[in-house]
Amino acid sequence: MAAKQTTRELRRRNRSALLSRLYLQGRGSRLELVDSSGLSSSTVSNVISDLIADGVVEEAGSAESDGGRPRTVLQVRRDYGHVIGVDIGETHIEVGLFDCALNTVATATYPIAGNLEPAHVAELILAGIAEVSANPVSIMGIGVGVPGAVESDGLVHAPTFGWKGVPLAKMLADSVSAPLYVDNCARTLGQAEMWRGAGRGATRAVIALLGVGVGAALAVESDSYQGVSSTTTEWGHTVVHAGGLPCRCGSRGCLEAYIGAEGILERYLAVPGSLPFMAEDTEARMRELADRAERPGPAADTLATTAEYLGIGIANLINLVTPDCVVLSGWVSLSIGHTILDAVLDAAKRHSLSYLHNRTRIELGQLGPEAVALGAATLPVIHFLANGG
Ligand SMILES: [Zn+2]
Repeated sequence: MAAKQTTRELRRRNRSALLSRLYLQGRGSRLELVDSSGLSSSTVSNVISDLIADGVVEEAGSAESDGGRPRTVLQVRRDYGHVIGVDIGETHIEVGLFDCALNTVATATYPIAGNLEPAHVAELILAGIAEVSANPVSIMGIGVGVPGAVESDGLVHAPTFGWKGVPLAKMLADSVSAPLYVDNCARTLGQAEMWRGAGRGATRAVIALLGVGVGAALAVESDSYQGVSSTTTEWGHTVVHAGGLPCRCGSRGCLEAYIGAEGILERYLAVPGSLPFMAEDTEARMRELADRAERPGPAADTLATTAEYLGIGIANLINLVTPDCVVLSGWVSLSIGHTILDAVLDAAKRHSLSYLHNRTRIELGQLGPEAVALGAATLPVIHFLANGG
């Protein structure tokens, strides 16, 4: 019995090791898998045959090799299964359906309209899951990214939502048939940027999530099956201005009070000569502000100050955790990132130690508007890789 279990565990571990390598590299040959995994060529050959027979991996043509005969290229089948990712934002719920390689298949977005009650949020999540999975596909799992901490018992604490110990997974589980995973959204976004986005190839990256709230995940390369380990920080509540603007956490002068979406819009409206916004919702107002900032005036001044504070926040990260890469992600980065990036780079350079700054690249995220939902979708993928398909 014990021997049988050990054999099964070894088989799962070998499948997981090879599947993870193929998944994270995109494609590879049997010989490359032998080199990178340290497994024998007969083990690699057997495990790959099993994975192909199970429909998890497929052969995708051949590639030239140095001097030898062409090698068969292997890849994880994109249509093996689908995953769902849920982004619980402060302005909207977005649910994305992705194929196995995390390409977007469908999305559904529901405005939260100021009602952050857990029951209301759960209702919107379930509506989104039903909408994107309307076409019959096999769902391997559902990942939910929450703007707060998730305890080991699954209870969610999200101070900015007023959530204390909300059993979100339990509230959703009865209504969905696929396995459900809940984790912090900055952490899962960090994972996605490292796998598929601007963090690729970094060994130590900070992924900043810029929205109504401001968070950051520290993602460090690891030899685990998911290739990266990621932890969250409360970067948004580090103080950048002693005695500065009040923050919703109760302190003053926090980074979030200056570069969180509400903070940016409020600072603009407080500038003499600023004009009221035409739009009602926060995201549309941010786009209006970005349009107005194309000409000199209060909007351009507000974004210049925003860039300065964001640059200071990044400089603090550079001095503290010496990342080789800082990725600016989240919807605020999508709407104003291109406008302020040069000024942010300049401020980060002025406020950090040059020998540390020179080792750090600062980039805009590459994952687009579905970035946070995509990040959440990495949760079921991690389980798929860990179980060896
Ligand atoms: Zn704060």
